[in-house]
Amino acid sequence: MPRFSTRLFIILLICIIPAAALAWSALGHQLVGALAQRLLDPKASAEVATLLVGEPDPTLAGVATWADTLRSSDPERFRQTSRWHYINALGGGCDFDVQRDCPDGNCAVAALENQIRILGDRSQPLAARRDALKWVVHLVGDLHQPLHAGNRPDAGGNRFQISLRTAIQPEDYAHNRYVDGLMGTNLHSVWDFYILASRRLDLAQYTAALASEDNSPAITTQARSLTTPLQWAEESCRLIDAKAIYPPENKHKMTSYYLEQMRPLAERRVEVAAVRLADILNRTIGNGAPVHQ
Ligand SMILES: [Zn+2]
Repeated sequence: MPRFSTRLFIILLICIIPAAALAWSALGHQLVGALAQRLLDPKASAEVATLLVGEPDPTLAGVATWADTLRSSDPERFRQTSRWHYINALGGGCDFDVQRDCPDGNCAVAALENQIRILGDRSQPLAARRDALKWVVHLVGDLHQPLHAGNRPDAGGNRFQISLRTAIQPEDYAHNRYVDGLMGTNLHSVWDFYILASRRLDLAQYTAALASEDNSPAITTQARSLTTPLQWAEESCRLIDAKAIYPPENKHKMTSYYLEQMRPLAERRVEVAAVRLADILNRTIGNGAPVHQ
């Protein structure tokens, strides 16, 4: 291939690749981290920087998906902690029973409480507190994705198949299920990835967009109206029916209409999670008082 066209080819590739290769399933977690970072008090901010020394991206957004990356970086640890990412109300309804729904402390609610304790315990080794910080950032995010705190026997919508007509490029691993603009996916993935991806902003743009929306008093009020991880899980669970997250008549086909319709709710969950995360960190490793936006 002549040199010029080789270069052109590479430039074209560079233009095309980011759309497909961006870790957008990470976007929700990273948004929670980026929005919370802005709400840290100076002491918490300095503590975060100290705990994350040596990280490739030493920010809350930069470590927000670490817990998910254990799947490939440390499969044994991922296996041991895989039930920390969610809680299911096994009795139906949305009143979680920790004895019943959280055996041996292996659910998002108990894991978050445990990791907050480790983070705030200065007698713990630095490495343990650093990992605890990463868990706290991640688990606050997970608990606010409604399908991570559901009550149906379908693994948080993972077994609720969806045929989604969309122009959004799927994540790399799912490309083989995207044919002629039709994506074979499930309701959980729609919530993890496609709804926020449908706004078509990168992390910096999305963070700026959400931060500039003039609804912060309402978000702060909602965030502080419930104070425990258990209450946050129950709040997520109640949204599943209240906001008709399962498609009407349990239909399995959807279009971008569903994504657009649900996006304000998904964005509000991210924003509320960010305030709660910042409050946890200010209380645990900061000056103690929550910061008002
Ligand atoms: Zn997770």
